[in-house]
Amino acid sequence: MKFDLHSHSRASDGELAPVDLLNRARAHGVTHLSITDHDTVSGYADLSTPSGIELITGIELSSSWRRRGIHVLGLNIDLQSDELLAGIAEQGVRRMRRARRIADRLVKAGLPDIHDDVIAAAAGANVGRPHFAHCLVEGGYVRDVKQAFRKYLGDGRRADVRQAWPPLGDVVDWIRAAGGSAVLAHPAHYRLTRTKLRELVSDFKAAGGDGIEVISGTQDAATTRQLSDLAGDFDMSASAGSDFHRPGVRRAELGGFEPLPEQCRPIWETW
Ligand code: MN
Ligand code: MN
Ligand code: MN
Repeated sequence: MKFDLHSHSRASDGELAPVDLLNRARAHGVTHLSITDHDTVSGYADLSTPSGIELITGIELSSSWRRRGIHVLGLNIDLQSDELLAGIAEQGVRRMRRARRIADRLVKAGLPDIHDDVIAAAAGANVGRPHFAHCLVEGGYVRDVKQAFRKYLGDGRRADVRQAWPPLGDVVDWIRAAGGSAVLAHPAHYRLTRTKLRELVSDFKAAGGDGIEVISGTQDAATTRQLSDLAGDFDMSASAGSDFHRPGVRRAELGGFEPLPEQCRPIWETW
C-alpha cells in the first residue's frame, strides 16, 4: 500500500484535472490518494474514481498562528459537512476582501480599477495574485508576470496586501466538525526554530490536531527524523504526502517519497 495524502488539482493551484490526478497517482504506484486543494473541495464534484486506486477526501486549509501562515490538512472529511462548507465560504470571503484591497492599492498607484477583470479571470477559482498579474499583463500595464510582481504585487511592493487567515484553532474545528483528521502540513517549511516548532505542535495538539505530516515529498533524512521524533514526543499520528502540483517537479511527484519511519503511527490506521 502507498498512501499519498497531499496533492493538488486544478480546483486550486494544481495543473491536472482531478481524474487525471488519480490516474497519474495510480501509474506511480499510489493505492490511496487524497486531493487536498487549497480551501476548496470543488475538485470532488462529479468525480468518479477510476479502478485500482482509493480516494480519501481532503482539503488544505490556510490559517494563522502568531501572524504566520500555517497550512492544515483535513483528511477523511465529510464533504457535505455544514460547518466545513461554512468555513470554506469564509475563506472565500477573506480572499475576495483581499482582492478588493489589492485593486484599491493599484488604483492608488495610478492604474485603473481592474478588480472586476480579475474576478472574471479567476473564473470562480480562488482569486489570488497570479490573477492580478495576468490582468496587468493583459492590460499592457506591465511587460510580463515577473514585472507585475516586481513592480506591484510582490512582497513589500505597493499592492502587496497580506492575506488575513482565521486562527489555527478555527480551521481545526471545521475539520473535526466534518469528522476528519487535522494534520499539520509540511512543518519543516515554516522555517521555525526548534523551540517555535514545538510550540506550534503543542498549540496544534491542544486545539484538537491529530497528526503531523512527517513526510512531505522527497526530503532529507534529518528532517524525517526530526519530524517523526516530534510526532512521537507529542503522541500524534503521522501523515505522508507529495504535495504534488504539476508533473515535472522531481521533489514533489505523486507517491515519490520514502515510507514513514517504523516508529510512526500512520494516520490512516486511526480511521
Ligand atoms: Mn499550492
Ligand atoms: Mn501548503
Ligand atoms: Mn499543498
